[in-house]
Amino acid sequence: MLLFLDRDLNTDGLAELQARLERMGLSFQSLSHPDGTIIALQEDVSTLASHVFTQLPGVTKILRTSPQTPLTERKEGTQIGLTLKNCNFGKGKPIVIAGPCSVEGQAHLLHLAHAVRESGASMLRGGAFKPRTSPYEFQGLGLDGLKHLSEAARITGLPIVSEVMSTEHIELAEPYVDMLQVGARNMYNYELLKELGRSKKPVLLKRALSATISELLHAAEYIILHGNPKVVLCERGIRTFETMTRNTLDLSAVALLKSMTGLPVLVDPSHGTGRRDLVRTMSRAAIACGADGLIIEVHDNPRCAMSDGEQAITPAELNLICSDLDKIYSALQETTVVSTSMQAQIAETPS
Ligand code: PEP
Ligand code: MN
Repeated sequence: MLLFLDRDLNTDGLAELQARLERMGLSFQSLSHPDGTIIALQEDVSTLASHVFTQLPGVTKILRTSPQTPLTERKEGTQIGLTLKNCNFGKGKPIVIAGPCSVEGQAHLLHLAHAVRESGASMLRGGAFKPRTSPYEFQGLGLDGLKHLSEAARITGLPIVSEVMSTEHIELAEPYVDMLQVGARNMYNYELLKELGRSKKPVLLKRALSATISELLHAAEYIILHGNPKVVLCERGIRTFETMTRNTLDLSAVALLKSMTGLPVLVDPSHGTGRRDLVRTMSRAAIACGADGLIIEVHDNPRCAMSDGEQAITPAELNLICSDLDKIYSALQETTVVSTSMQAQIAETPS
C-alpha cells in the first residue's frame, strides 16, 4: 500500500507518523515524490480496512497495491475447478443447470428432471424457498420442495442446486441438495455468507441486483474466508434504466471475473433478461464470452408456471441451447489451438 502524505507535513509530523507505523509492526520505505512524500508499506495489508490508514495524521490518500479479496484472486495459471458428481465446473465443456423456477410438486419435478436431462442438462435447479417481491405470491414448498428435489436427484442421477435465504435454511437444505444457492437478494446477507463458509457443500453465489463486481468478489471472499473454497459465481443481470428487459445481462462482468478470479463463473440468461425469446441468444453469447456454464429456467408449460413463467423455456428449446453450446465450445477450442500454433509460428519466425 502507498500512503500519500500532506505536502505541508513537517519533520516532526513525519517522525510521529513513522513511529505510529512502527508501533503497528509495519515496515516501510519513505520516498520523495514531486507531489510530496510517499510511504510504501512493505507488508501485505490487504485484510486491514482502509480507514486504519486514511485516518493516520498527515495521510491524504492511500493506494492499495494488493487486492482486498486475496482469496478470490486468480493465482497465475490456476483455475479453481469444482467437481460435483459428473459436473465439472470451470474445467472442460461448460455445464448446463436447468429446471423450474419453483419446485411445484413431486410428479411434475420428476417429469421435468427427466426432460431436462434428455435435453442435455447435467444438473437440476428448483427453488423450494422462494424470494418473491410480493408476499402474496407463491413462496415455495419449503421442506417438501427439498424432499422432491432429493427424490428427483436419486432417480435421475442429476445433482441438485436450490436456494437458501437464511442461516436456518442451510441446515434444512444440506441433507437434500448438492449445491446451495445464494440468490441475488441475499448476496449482501453477510451472516448467511459466513454460515455458508462453514458448510461442506459448494455454493452458487448470484450477483445482487445492483452489486458492483467488487462487491460480488467481496461476498465470495466472505464464504472462502470462513472455510468454504467451493464457490461458483453467477452473473444474473443487474438493474439498469432499461425497462424492456427484466435486468441487463452484464456479460463484460463474466469476461472480467474470469480474468480476476480462478472461480468458475456461470450465467443466468433467464433472470438476466426476463424474456424467454432472448434466452437462447444470450446463452450463446454467454458461452462465447467464456462462461463456465448456464443456469436456465425450464418448464413444460411455461404459461402455467407458478413463478417466472415469462422467462421459462421448454425442454425442446433447452435442447437447441445445448447443441449450440457444443458447437460454440468446439469452435472456441479450435480457435485456442489455432492461436497457440500461430503464437508458436510467430515465435519461430526469425526477426
Ligand atoms: C432463482 O434462481 O430462482 C432466483 C430467484 O434468482 P435470482 O436470485 O437471481 O433473482
Ligand atoms: Mn426464478
